[in-house]
Amino acid sequence: MRIAIVGGGASGLITAWLLDRAHEVTLFERAPVLGGHIRTMGRNAPRGDLPAGVWLDAGVVEFSRENFPTVHRLFAALGVPLRSVAGDTAFHRQGAGPLYSPGALRQLPAATRAGAVLRLARAGLQRARFMARANVPDAALRGRALGEFLGPPPFGHWLRLLVTYAYSMPSAEVPGLSAALCVPMLRAFARANSWSAVEGGTYAYVERLLAGLRGTVYTNAIVQSIRRDDRGVHLVVDGQPLAFDAVVIATPPDQVLRLLADADEAERRRFGAWRANHVTTLVHADDGLYRRRGVAVRTEFDLFEQPGGGGYNAWLNGLAGLPPGHAVDYGLALGLDAEIDPARVLLRQPHHTAAFTVAALAHRDEVRASNGQRRTWHVGAWLGDGLHEGAAGSALAVATALGGRGL
Ligand SMILES: Cc1cc2nc3c(=O)[nH]c(=O)nc-3n(C[C@H](O)[C@H](O)[C@H](O)COP(=O)(O)OP(=O)(O)OC[C@H]3O[C@@H](n4cnc5c(N)ncnc54)[C@H](O)[C@@H]3O)c2cc1C
Repeated sequence: MRIAIVGGGASGLITAWLLDRAHEVTLFERAPVLGGHIRTMGRNAPRGDLPAGVWLDAGVVEFSRENFPTVHRLFAALGVPLRSVAGDTAFHRQGAGPLYSPGALRQLPAATRAGAVLRLARAGLQRARFMARANVPDAALRGRALGEFLGPPPFGHWLRLLVTYAYSMPSAEVPGLSAALCVPMLRAFARANSWSAVEGGTYAYVERLLAGLRGTVYTNAIVQSIRRDDRGVHLVVDGQPLAFDAVVIATPPDQVLRLLADADEAERRRFGAWRANHVTTLVHADDGLYRRRGVAVRTEFDLFEQPGGGGYNAWLNGLAGLPPGHAVDYGLALGLDAEIDPARVLLRQPHHTAAFTVAALAHRDEVRASNGQRRTWHVGAWLGDGLHEGAAGSALAVATALGGRGL
């Protein structure tokens, strides 16, 4: 079949690679570069004046070994070199001492460790209560908001900012997100303790994937509309009509109805409630966030409470495998712009994600069950955990249905 793939983020690219041997694949990406939320400085994002051998990610950066089996099988199939990274986290509160995960606690100087152990022990009770609330069948989470499960501060706020980290949503909006998406993710991540990162930055895996692709890939190619009939699928790409046998839509889900010029009632119901979420990440070299708070230990998931919410700063030195004592501390921050010196910002990276609200997720099962109807397939992180496993897992499901390669 001639298959069009709309969107060159992880899900579209992995689908293309899996279908490539069985079909004639053409991928359209509207941006000048591929990768979607994968943005590695020096590969598909400007390098700036980073020293040689330093690769920093402004988007997707780490992969849970426990929770991302499909992603790790893909990496193995592509021969992607991986590095283990610590999965520690810290929650820097306003007007109270920080909470550190056990791995981070071990790095604290003895003088401050005892107090931190006590605070963690108190939070441990709240954690146990959260795990009990979260321990319900997935079916019981449908139609419910995450706010019902989070519990009081401090642990409830810690979880809230973890969700800001996972889904790039402003923390004030986190309680309104779908419990069906967030609770299984938080449950799984509470148990995850081994993580990997791609040597040379995340886009290095995309380069390997592209090297083995025979199909055609267009960037700067905006798909304007999709129509389906008995003969096939008709796309308009930058004003040009093109015909295919099937289409895989790999854009954020809020874009689906804009693309489908002949959406039927079922498609309007399934995709009508999705809304865009626009955020900007900053890659920076400003350690003021830590200095001003007197914080000695940095982790991969540093969460900072602020009035009305907060944001995160991922310590990129750990994630990028820079040697201890490297001259500069690099961070990847979201929601903390007011605390970061603009002169020390190396890259501002906009991201268009989707808001995972209760209403938006209400019809996800229906999309999975009807996938392939009207020659139209859907892939994307949102069809799974909202993360890379969701992107790879949804791509594998579609490739399996269409006779592509397995993983
Ligand atoms: C800042 C940030 C950090 C993240 N970090 C991690 C992480 O560390 N680990 C992890 O597992 N997940 C992470 N994620 C989640 C990430 O979204 C998923 O892992 C995954 O990369 C999403 O892939 P996707 O293909 O579903 O969507 P996207 O990456 O959004 O790809 C969709 C693509 O479709 C294109 N497109 C849209 N409309 C059109 C059109 N009309 N025509 C052509 N192309 C179009 C877009 O330009 C985009 O390239 C992060 C997300 C963000 C925003």
